[in-house]
Amino acid sequence: MRSSKNLLDLTAHHAAAYLDTIDARPIATTAGIDELRRLLGGPLPETPANAMEVIDNLVRDTAGGLLGSTSPRFFGWVIGGTLPVALAADWLTSTWDQNAASNVTAPAEAVVEEVTGAWLKQLLGLPTEASFAFVTGCQMAHTTALAAARHKLLRDRQWNVEADGLAGAPLLRIFTTESRHESILRSVRLLGIGTRAIRLVAADTDGRIDCAALDQALAAEKGAPAIVILQAGDLNTGLFDPFEAAIAIAHAHGAWVHIDGAFGLWAATSEKHRHLLAGAEKAQSWATDGHKWLNVPFESGFVFVADAAAHRAAFTQSTSYSVPSAGLRDQKDWNPEWSRRGRAFATYAAIRGLGRRGIAEIVDRCSAHAARLVSEIGALPGGEVLARPIINQGLVRFRGPDGQHDDYTDRVIAAIQTDGVAWFGGVTWRGQRAMRVSVCNWATTDADITATVVSVRKVLDAMHT
Ligand SMILES: *Cc1c(COP(=O)(O)O)cnc(C)c1O
Repeated sequence: MRSSKNLLDLTAHHAAAYLDTIDARPIATTAGIDELRRLLGGPLPETPANAMEVIDNLVRDTAGGLLGSTSPRFFGWVIGGTLPVALAADWLTSTWDQNAASNVTAPAEAVVEEVTGAWLKQLLGLPTEASFAFVTGCQMAHTTALAAARHKLLRDRQWNVEADGLAGAPLLRIFTTESRHESILRSVRLLGIGTRAIRLVAADTDGRIDCAALDQALAAEKGAPAIVILQAGDLNTGLFDPFEAAIAIAHAHGAWVHIDGAFGLWAATSEKHRHLLAGAEKAQSWATDGHKWLNVPFESGFVFVADAAAHRAAFTQSTSYSVPSAGLRDQKDWNPEWSRRGRAFATYAAIRGLGRRGIAEIVDRCSAHAARLVSEIGALPGGEVLARPIINQGLVRFRGPDGQHDDYTDRVIAAIQTDGVAWFGGVTWRGQRAMRVSVCNWATTDADITATVVSVRKVLDAMHT
């Protein structure tokens, strides 16, 4: 038998060395694109190479181009790190290399999906009868949910979208606000609904959907098959739409309600933050991520659909060459992909490893860290708080001595990245440049927050002199 032990030992050694030194290395990349091309490029290899050398060289040549986004002091975007237990399960997922298209090709994975799907619904406060799928991310979760919505809304109007497509079908309309995530637009494009079907609904000063405006917008499109998309946690301020009121209005007009809760849906695990989701369980579909706040490796997204039959009808496809085992959910009835990795294993391990309480602790801890970062950075010379975190997202900016605050904010962000202790990104929010503060790593400690604030203070001191 061919042994892989030496190769896998070597790889485990490289992986552990990476994780164990993440604290000591700069978070920003050190190699430019040209250097990476030079290191990694070259002619198409014609002959085989030694596997251990391939791995050693891969590690060596990528090192300067790896962003330290698993660092506990990485606060850019909403990215999250990786729990050791989820990483380990992810390695096994690749090792077992099950084709999780079907319960015949991946029976253990199908059962793990069944178990983990039920656990996720409990954790996230969703109806027990909702269907679910493990997809690559929230973008595909939206696409899956909206395909189910498209099926249901058109079937109710005697239109079979799976057979007849959208040409000639009643025009679908999407109602959402300015602060919706861009991934919604791509789902709408992919499904053939088209972005011109989107009706932007006014929001209040905080950015929450204005319920009276929603009512009017739905009334104006009377009778059209309508999907209302609400947010649980927007990516700048973490805001939550008023679910109870907005869903009641949407339902009065016969609309399907979808909730983008890429990270915010996890507030359901926290006693302190759960109230933000009051009423969210009455929606028709929900999308969220595992690779953000649950800290499992990419690619991990989850979708849930209250009308399981609509979800299944949009995706099911039978074949003569692979007949699923009866009495067990067949993965491809619910997923947009055919062949796919056994995506549920890492999530299963994360939930097993943390328990409901451990997950709630991550949510509460990250939220407390975000509050500290925003208020302490906001109190530094020139610092200004634009949005105090509702959960784990907030915004600050920096007022420059020359009055060019946008430019100054961008320069401060770049200098913080160069200092290497922490990493933040910039965003244009309501016409101003701002620095986004996002905390979603399981490993971030109070000491990381302190070290980050010290670094930002140092950067600001240096810029003023
Ligand atoms: C990240 C994010 C998405 C997109 O999720 P992917 O997992 O990257 O596909 C959608 N909505 C919100 C609010 C997000 O933060």
